[in-house]
Amino acid sequence: MADNKDAMKRNAWLRMDSEEIEQTYEFNKGYREFLSRVKTEREATEYFYQLALANGFLPLNEVDAIGAGQKLVLSDKGKVCALLVIGQEPLNEGINLVASHIDSPRLDLKARPLYEADGQALFKTHYYGGIKKYQWVAVPLALHGVVVKKDGQSIEIAIGEKEDEIAFTIADLLPHLAKDQMEKKMSEAIKGESLNILVGSRPLAENSEEGIKKYILNILQSKYGIEEDDFTSAELQLVPAYPAREIGFDRSMIGAYGQDDRVCAYTSFQAILEVERPQRTAVCLFVDKEEIGSTGNTGLQSLIIENIMAELLHKAGVHDYYSIRRSLANSYALSADVNAAVDPNYPEVFEKMNCSFLGNGVVMTKYTGSRGKSESNDANPEFLGRIRKLFDDNKVVWQVGELGKVDIGGGGTVAQYMARYGMEVVDCGAALLGMHSPFEVVSKADVYMCYRAYKSFMQSF
Ligand code: MN
Ligand code: MN
Repeated sequence: MADNKDAMKRNAWLRMDSEEIEQTYEFNKGYREFLSRVKTEREATEYFYQLALANGFLPLNEVDAIGAGQKLVLSDKGKVCALLVIGQEPLNEGINLVASHIDSPRLDLKARPLYEADGQALFKTHYYGGIKKYQWVAVPLALHGVVVKKDGQSIEIAIGEKEDEIAFTIADLLPHLAKDQMEKKMSEAIKGESLNILVGSRPLAENSEEGIKKYILNILQSKYGIEEDDFTSAELQLVPAYPAREIGFDRSMIGAYGQDDRVCAYTSFQAILEVERPQRTAVCLFVDKEEIGSTGNTGLQSLIIENIMAELLHKAGVHDYYSIRRSLANSYALSADVNAAVDPNYPEVFEKMNCSFLGNGVVMTKYTGSRGKSESNDANPEFLGRIRKLFDDNKVVWQVGELGKVDIGGGGTVAQYMARYGMEVVDCGAALLGMHSPFEVVSKADVYMCYRAYKSFMQSF
């Protein structure tokens, strides 16, 4: 088929030598372990921060003066993290920034989640990000997050990841009684208010009112020190309870939850660990809240980037406002986020001359947006020309990408929130199958090419 010939033209597996292929499989072992272990923005921040320290990065807030070659790390509110390698050139010349997001679609507990009905105890949820609700029923779920007590004590929760541990689930309606449901539109077949998590079914004692709920509260108190009111100051998230898996007879892919966008976060993190004495300051930024519009004080619509730049300049002894503006405007950025891989089960939504294919390397997406490039950054060709050269010179296998056919849909990334400073920015990341599903699939070759792309950008662009 002509289509398949197109896909093969730039296949990364065919353009790597045996040593590179071995490195690809090796690199992905670490990636798979990371995916199995890190499922929330808080866990990602902790993982990156601690590993940065172990690799010789110093906390930015403990450093008084900035100098070339320094490796620094910061975390903010437990949900944002950045690694920096200070360059030879002054900050006024701009930085090379790779920004990815570490939040993923999931189910969040409501502020008053626990109730009892029909002999069961359940948690009410409000989903986070763009999900297809039917994908979240009848699968094992794990509970991750924090509960903050009134005295400020923070209780960390991660239940359901180990095989011998309890897990949670949302029961689906049996087909025998689903005649009406099956006739509904997919988007309406399962309602947000029916995404209630099964958490218990055993009453505390005979004749005790709401005995099942009471029994659960007893367990929460004795095992975790949590009272019912404590849920009002908590961030608890339900995520798929299974680990990442290798996919395919050839082990060429990885299937896991949360690869949008932890594939870009992990690969850019590994890349900056290896950046040494770059010309321009290299920054790897991991942000929260992308999936709900980059809102809040941990999303990229906040002033995170400006605040980091201000702190760097302050510690470099530069104190004027103009320098902050100039440093930002002179910067280059990769918006490290995923794109959709052409799916042979749904060829009708892709325009194959411009969409990305699994295994064809890191995807350079000039514009995202929907129906007329709305909300898109639309990268400048002068910048893209230089990025193409960088990738080709550094043996980065790359491809172009566009999110589906023009009239079908679309989506945005954080690129626009970096572009507003005047910095040059383009979307650049892996192509996924099943994006936003509880089990997204990526090509190991693309994972490796992301790492190479980010490393070349931070080290030598
Ligand atoms: Mn994303
Ligand atoms: Mn997404």
